[in-house]
Amino acid sequence: MTPEERRAALAKIADEVSACRKCPLSMGRTRAVPGEGHPDTEVVFVGEGPGYNEDQQGRPFVGAAGTLLNELLGKIGWRRDEVFITNVVKCRPPGNRDPEPQEIAACAPYLERQLAILDPALVVTLGRHSLQTFRPGARIGQVHGTQQPAPPATGARDATTASLYHPAAALRQNSLRETMLADMARLPQALLDSRARRAGAGAQATPNQAEPRPPTAPEPDPAPEPAPAPEPEPEPMSVAAGGHDPDDQMELLLNQ
Ligand code: SF4
Repeated sequence: MTPEERRAALAKIADEVSACRKCPLSMGRTRAVPGEGHPDTEVVFVGEGPGYNEDQQGRPFVGAAGTLLNELLGKIGWRRDEVFITNVVKCRPPGNRDPEPQEIAACAPYLERQLAILDPALVVTLGRHSLQTFRPGARIGQVHGTQQPAPPATGARDATTASLYHPAAALRQNSLRETMLADMARLPQALLDSRARRAGAGAQATPNQAEPRPPTAPEPDPAPEPAPAPEPEPEPMSVAAGGHDPDDQMELLLNQ
């Protein structure tokens, strides 16, 4: 898929979500919240469900929890427009109650399709409901900060999942801020490890991923090439592994 094709496929899902009536959460919503982010990202954050502000604006993580998430991303040198952010349910549970299992099940195909399109290297779960989707049976208090392969049935066919507390938990319990920051600080290395694993498995050969995003730790220098026969002057290395123009990448960012 080209970035344009991915963007169009994600927009189609967003349209479907906005019109969805598959579960009772549709009755109380102001706006559905499909998710948003960069179509070429390697990192997807998955929260629980929209809150009041998200329901009003139709965008994920725009309230106080979103402000904290943005702050934590900044601590590791990432920006929210470089990643994709969504939830396991796309409509607000009334009174911010937990989503019911049948609501999560009804909404799961949308998340699966988003992940299938994005093919992330790293899926970051935020909170226990997202955790249960990617690591069934795990308890957030025991596994936060750890990683393991994501089940391909989630739609993330070759991803590592990293488990974090939900930012809202850190707003309620101040001591969790440091925990979240420490867990967040492990993400750049988790992305590098997953990227290396995927490259080893041949996933790097797929041409649909642009410049590894977000930028993290430096890659090791490639081994020097043996002296080649004279050839035409090569193109300067593009930021896009799939041959995308850097200006296109900037335009994509600006169009978020
Ligand atoms: S929560 Fe998901 S399944 Fe339920 S109405 Fe909203 S989009 Fe549809």
